[in-house]
Amino acid sequence: MSFKSDIEIAREASKRPIQEIGEKLGIGSDDLLPYGHDKAKISQRFIDSVQDNPNGKLILVTAINPTPAGEGKTTTTVGLGDGLNAIGKKAAVCIREASLGPCFGMKGGAAGGGYAQVVPMEEMNLHFTGDFHAITSAHNLLSAMIDNHIYWGNELQIDTRRVVWRRVMDMNDRALRQITASLGGVANGFPRETGFDITVASEVMACLCLATSLTDLQKRLGDIIVAYTRERDPIYARDIKADGAMTVLLKDAMQPNLVQTLENNPAFVHGGPFANIAHGCNSVIATTTALKVADYVVTEAGFGADLGAEKFMNIKCRKAGLAPDCVVLVATVRAMKMNGGVAKADLGSENVEAVKSGCANLGRHIENVKSFGVPVVVAINHFHGDTAAEIAAVQEFVKTQGSEAILCKHWANGSDGTRDLATRVAQIAEQGSANFAPIYPDDMKLADKIDTICRKIYRADGALIDGKIRAQLKQWEDQGYGHLPVCMAKTQYSFSTDPEARGAPTGFTVPVREVRLSAGAGFVVAICGEIMTMPGLPRVPSAEAIMLNDDGQIEGLF
Ligand code: ADP
Ligand code: MG
Repeated sequence: MSFKSDIEIAREASKRPIQEIGEKLGIGSDDLLPYGHDKAKISQRFIDSVQDNPNGKLILVTAINPTPAGEGKTTTTVGLGDGLNAIGKKAAVCIREASLGPCFGMKGGAAGGGYAQVVPMEEMNLHFTGDFHAITSAHNLLSAMIDNHIYWGNELQIDTRRVVWRRVMDMNDRALRQITASLGGVANGFPRETGFDITVASEVMACLCLATSLTDLQKRLGDIIVAYTRERDPIYARDIKADGAMTVLLKDAMQPNLVQTLENNPAFVHGGPFANIAHGCNSVIATTTALKVADYVVTEAGFGADLGAEKFMNIKCRKAGLAPDCVVLVATVRAMKMNGGVAKADLGSENVEAVKSGCANLGRHIENVKSFGVPVVVAINHFHGDTAAEIAAVQEFVKTQGSEAILCKHWANGSDGTRDLATRVAQIAEQGSANFAPIYPDDMKLADKIDTICRKIYRADGALIDGKIRAQLKQWEDQGYGHLPVCMAKTQYSFSTDPEARGAPTGFTVPVREVRLSAGAGFVVAICGEIMTMPGLPRVPSAEAIMLNDDGQIEGLF
């Protein structure tokens, strides 16, 4: 059987002018700043004007631990949004913007898939409204100003060996991970080692995604620690006097983007922080604005629920005062099979036993989400080839966990495939049974916050934090950063730090290798395992298959 590719489906979309999409949410055309016919930014004036509206219901879409089989969180977020609209609810989706890294590497786009996509998908995946360009520029302006400060006499006494602010670009390029800058003589400054990260890993991105206003954004940018002196005193972006100009560069990027789904329903696409060294969800300003104008807002968090949902709850919701009404946990039969030990090549044949044993992973995520006080529904994202017996096995398992699993066929059928899910999610959200609370308080010690996440979410025997790292955490507490939440950086493939340990591993500890303070974004990053802030391209990057056809259309963008 052959299926249309995502881009073929997207190309056939019958899009409505963006003003019509804005109208559905009461956003007049004066308040839509159009970027072409089918994309617009929403004015700050409009955002200010709706602040007294009551909030709609907030639904988080998350997933089991990802496998190479693919889970489809974005696809399900879009499908559920369309499903809610199809049953007569006023719903909007809130998703992240795409990075060029995965587009040209291997993961693919960020617009959803099949008949559950946002459009224009080509533009959403490439350049879009220029937000990532603005973030890259703001970041690199600060980098340039730091080296310039050192060049002109280094009044702040920056220790050039301790400059922690690197440079960024929106590309997977391993050649730039570690570089020597300022070579070539006196006129070029003082040679030092530095490197590039991918734009989505920039703290500027995390700041933009957590900021509630331009004023708040400027404060966060000023708070970024860029370097240390020989005495180890921090130097802030504010000391370099970069925060004002950075905010100017980010002025438009801060405004949420509005586009539409294939079914002409509103989609806020804004921000895209890394899901490991940052919190991995779309911007606070987009989510909070959507909640003021829609009755239901469906949003997504990156990676599996152990990372994505945990950070959504403990960082984004805590900081923005949000409380989810319902969580949708995406699972696929194929991923259950892989968690049950089946190799990717053998996913095509029925294996009910493997599905059953892989369900342990799903069960633990269900319990975890409930521990935040939020009701959870499992969405089985249907893939062609899933058998009735395999689907039934997942549904029976979920029932034993005191929850329910609903089969969804949005990838193949759009909103027709998510009516059941939408109906149930709307019921749960309306019941108001959620009683959300983060799993650790602000005033807990930083080391204990890390340990709490490891025990309660990963089910580890605890975090291993050596004396040096404890001393660092203690120092930050003494400097007034103790109230910050923790942003865990570990493999997305397992509850543990071993990516091979699928299912529901027990009997492990979580070694914390390094901690970093993101003082601007407002969290402490605990790095457990290998973390790549500048990915590389695979042996055969998707870029090799991307080209313009004779009609000037883009081919190969999945
Ligand atoms: P995530 O957000 O979890 O990373 P996406 O929703 O972006 O995943 O989906 C990743 C890819 O998987 C997309 O190209 C999408 O078309 C594909 N996909 C998702 N759901 C299905 C499905 N039910 N059948 C076939 N392909 C799917
Ligand atoms: Mg996604």
